[in-house]
Amino acid sequence: MADVRLSHIYKVYDNGHKAVNDFSIDIKDKEFIVFVGPSGCGKSTTLRMIAGLEEITAGDMFIGDTLVNDMEPRDRDIAMVFQNYALYPHMTVFENMAFSLRNQHLPEEEIKKRVNEAAKILGIEEYLDRKPKAMSGGQRQRVALGRAIVRNPKVFLLDEPLSNLDAKLRAQMRTEITKLHKKLQTTFIYVTHDQVEAMTMGTRIVVMKLGYVQQIDTPMNLYNKPYNKFVAGFIGTPQMNFFDVTLNRVGEKVEMAFDTGAKILLPYEVVCKVSDHYLHGDVKVCLGIRPDHIAISGRQTGLTCMVNVVEHLGNESIIYGDISGQTVEQAEQIESGHQIIIKVVGDVDVESGQLLNLEINPEKIHLFDSETEITILEDIPHGATFEATFQEGKMNFLGSEVALPAALQEKLQGAKSAKVEVPPTAFIPGEDYKLYVHDVQNIDGKKLALLNVGDRYLFAFVKRTVHKGETLHFSLQNDKLRFVADNEVVVEPIGEEETLIGTFSKKDRRENHQRVIDFFYNIEGDAILAPLKNGYKLNQIDGNACYRNQYKYVFRRDAITLAPEDAPGIPATVKEILDYGNAAYALLEVASGETILASVTQDFAEQQVKIQLSGEDIQVHSLDVEMRIC
Ligand code: ADP
Repeated sequence: MADVRLSHIYKVYDNGHKAVNDFSIDIKDKEFIVFVGPSGCGKSTTLRMIAGLEEITAGDMFIGDTLVNDMEPRDRDIAMVFQNYALYPHMTVFENMAFSLRNQHLPEEEIKKRVNEAAKILGIEEYLDRKPKAMSGGQRQRVALGRAIVRNPKVFLLDEPLSNLDAKLRAQMRTEITKLHKKLQTTFIYVTHDQVEAMTMGTRIVVMKLGYVQQIDTPMNLYNKPYNKFVAGFIGTPQMNFFDVTLNRVGEKVEMAFDTGAKILLPYEVVCKVSDHYLHGDVKVCLGIRPDHIAISGRQTGLTCMVNVVEHLGNESIIYGDISGQTVEQAEQIESGHQIIIKVVGDVDVESGQLLNLEINPEKIHLFDSETEITILEDIPHGATFEATFQEGKMNFLGSEVALPAALQEKLQGAKSAKVEVPPTAFIPGEDYKLYVHDVQNIDGKKLALLNVGDRYLFAFVKRTVHKGETLHFSLQNDKLRFVADNEVVVEPIGEEETLIGTFSKKDRRENHQRVIDFFYNIEGDAILAPLKNGYKLNQIDGNACYRNQYKYVFRRDAITLAPEDAPGIPATVKEILDYGNAAYALLEVASGETILASVTQDFAEQQVKIQLSGEDIQVHSLDVEMRIC
């Protein structure tokens, strides 16, 4: 029994192929985690790295509290079950299961006990004397599982264990493996390309594509709240339907227009978290709607489909149609992007060639940005954008007039107005603004207040309890706002991290007659002592080239200490103090001319400073392959 933790794991094969990118997950003891994705997405590579069969290029892997990056597979206390069973043909089932225990030189009594127990759990007690060739595929896979069980491992790793079985047996073994997991109360990590297996077995699922994790979530969240179009299309059968649409808000409704000319109306409330710029009818977005969430209507709905094929499955019917009204022959000729699949419970009296009126359940729609393919309908919106006007050092915003801090005045350069994006995290107690609370939602244990601004909402995370109907008084962290004037971003919010480029070196010294190595991050004229383990890691990953390479050093702003000019550190010139009202920053120029921001007080008056950083607070990223090394 053990937790398994992957922290920023990368795999770059010797041929330069980057198979796994920045994979991080905390797998809790007793979880059943499934890695799923199309062939080649890096599932097996990740599993093999956990098993110790594949070297980790960068990142840390823990089993329990132990760092296992360099631990031999046999010492990791894990058992792996493969798709091809890998049984010894000349040995009986008993001997196959006893094999690893014999290697451990366990007493014969103990071996017998463990094999018999495992055989009982798997229902293969009668077959212990048989050879594998006298058994069916399902039975052989049970033996393969048995071989893992007898070892009583902390973690079970299963690599497509059911893919050699026929559909019926696969379904049966799925349930058996789920039961086995409950019985053994051990961590299971399971790889499959089959989303049905993933959805039915996993307590959490990792969806992967081309080496990148797309989403880690429970089966229900993947189904109901897919992060992007890929996850939306990959999870669920029949597949989610996707259509290009535009959205145009008209009062309390939003008109959704398909490129076939079809139009339907949605209540504004269901899309109120979508950024306003998508709601003026001029930006194409991708609508996703599952076949289960479309109904056939008896009235004119504005959206019709020509029925091409109907599959009557008894308990449900699947209708394949085309929303541009094409017949089956026409639809076959053109990949129109207008095909639709509808799933109806029970039997339907619908025939090919019929024209149906369709009703889309507005509560169940998904919307994705056409370019990034990321959802634009999130529980927690990035922010909401409202117009502000400026006059004589004042900002008129959200119905209040507030002082415009110096840093903003300077950057806005006399602009009369701008669109201001406010993220939900920018709210602080204060008296600058007051807005009416339309609703309060509990999202993952946090309180998100929907505040009325005209006929739209502003979204605010609030710490104290607020109630629907009350007036919320607040101030905004000015450094978290984004200002867009004349379609150009004139003020970016201040991020939390800074980056500088540097090199890496080592120095020998003697301590108590012993040779000791120190490693250093050489950044802009300063040599910062690197944690020893990171020094070895850089050396291990890049070999001796690490002493010639340049690296990207990334650190959080709150890890920066500013010291006087005569103190050690990175020399920097204070170019400017940026006063954001409730925060201030010093713009610091370092030797190469690069600049970074450090938090200071408004009255900070130094001209020359030293930037002090601890090696512990610095992340090292490779510059040639985009990769976090440590
Ligand atoms: P999956 O299990 O999701 O099908 P894999 O983890 O097996 O994917 O492979 C991920 C990617 O890495 C694939 O593009 C594959 O071709 C590549 N790959 C796998 N093994 C090696 C190897 N030994 N050398 C180079 N590339 C490899």
